[in-house]
Amino acid sequence: MKLVELAKLVREEAMELQEEMEKHQMRLHKHPEVGFELKETCEYVYQQLEEMGYLPKRVGKAGITALLEGSCPGPTFLLRADMDALPIAEENDDKEKSENGYMHACGHDFHTAMLLGAARILQNHREELCGNVKMMFQPAEELLEGAKDMIRDGVLEDPQVDGALMIHVLTGLPLATGTCIVSAPGVSAPAADYFTIEVQGKGCHGSSPNTGIDPLTAAAHILIALQEIKAREMGATEAAVLTIGSFHGGEVANVIPDKVILEGTLRAFGEELRSYLHKRIIDITGDIAKAFRAKAEVKFGSGCPTLVNEKELSEAVKKSLEELLGHDKCFGSDSFARQSNGGNGRNTGMSGSEDFAYVSHRVPSVMVALVAGSSSQGYVYPLHHPKVRFDRQALPVGAAVYAYSAISRLGSFEKQ
Ligand SMILES: [Zn+2]
Ligand SMILES: [Zn+2]
Repeated sequence: MKLVELAKLVREEAMELQEEMEKHQMRLHKHPEVGFELKETCEYVYQQLEEMGYLPKRVGKAGITALLEGSCPGPTFLLRADMDALPIAEENDDKEKSENGYMHACGHDFHTAMLLGAARILQNHREELCGNVKMMFQPAEELLEGAKDMIRDGVLEDPQVDGALMIHVLTGLPLATGTCIVSAPGVSAPAADYFTIEVQGKGCHGSSPNTGIDPLTAAAHILIALQEIKAREMGATEAAVLTIGSFHGGEVANVIPDKVILEGTLRAFGEELRSYLHKRIIDITGDIAKAFRAKAEVKFGSGCPTLVNEKELSEAVKKSLEELLGHDKCFGSDSFARQSNGGNGRNTGMSGSEDFAYVSHRVPSVMVALVAGSSSQGYVYPLHHPKVRFDRQALPVGAAVYAYSAISRLGSFEKQ
């Protein structure tokens, strides 16, 4: 079968699964779970895969994989969907509203439902495939920990994975549902780091500051000074964000406390820039503290690297999705950035991190964004908002994107 005919067939098969995928999505949406605590979600996904005839496997603390083996040997392509929700209380009033204080506010219920749909479509094409498709259902994306945990437990081996793709839904933008944005080669999501700064002074009576060392004033100077890195040490095209989101110290008006704790996050679109910023945060913090006779220590958590899209894969997937969806429904993130800044020079790009980054540092990878609700049709809230909603018409598009990317990828390996 020619790829063009196959694309049409995959689209039709995906449309037929609309109702089934809605059932999955609504079920998951009503019963959201967070982090690695995905007991019911995992059971549901496992059972669905088993009913389709797969032999699902548990990987890591709360991940699941299923393998579709083609009719002849070949490479293995991985499709990733995340399954975790957020600790946000939902403020919508639909019948599938979540009541447990958690919410699928990042659309991971859509990703899981779409990959279950793709699992069914791929079964129809087993005979035509040389190689394997590995489906990865991962926990704890919001903690940036789930992918790392599944990699540690061997998700990229047996059989060894040769390429990988993830989808993330988008909403709140003036783009039609079903539009796909394929990440251009290079970094599409920044590295994320969390850090704590402990500023140690010497507590004393507020009326006699000369008898102690004030950690509050030192911490205030540190907070301001850290912002100078971005203002004075980075060029116009370098991208990073440094935010101090928490500043704690002191209890009462007339006591200078002993200690202040600052907590912050760092996002950097490049590993070299990331290590430069690490060093500067440590140096500036230490030197400012010293200037005010205090001591300060910076502690970084484990962090998550940049998500890197591989050139050849990104270009090939973009071409396949143009075949699948048409040129007006698929474009590269580079042209999207040009369109979306509206010529005013303000970049509306997001700097949310994505732990698929860990996969992208191991195997050639690509991220695809799928529009699930246009702002012009009332889908106005962004991801992570307690009122965010997504358009279910995107479900068959997502399933088709997953399935067709894998099929054409194995096809293209075959031709080489
Ligand atoms: Zn999220
Ligand atoms: Zn997400």
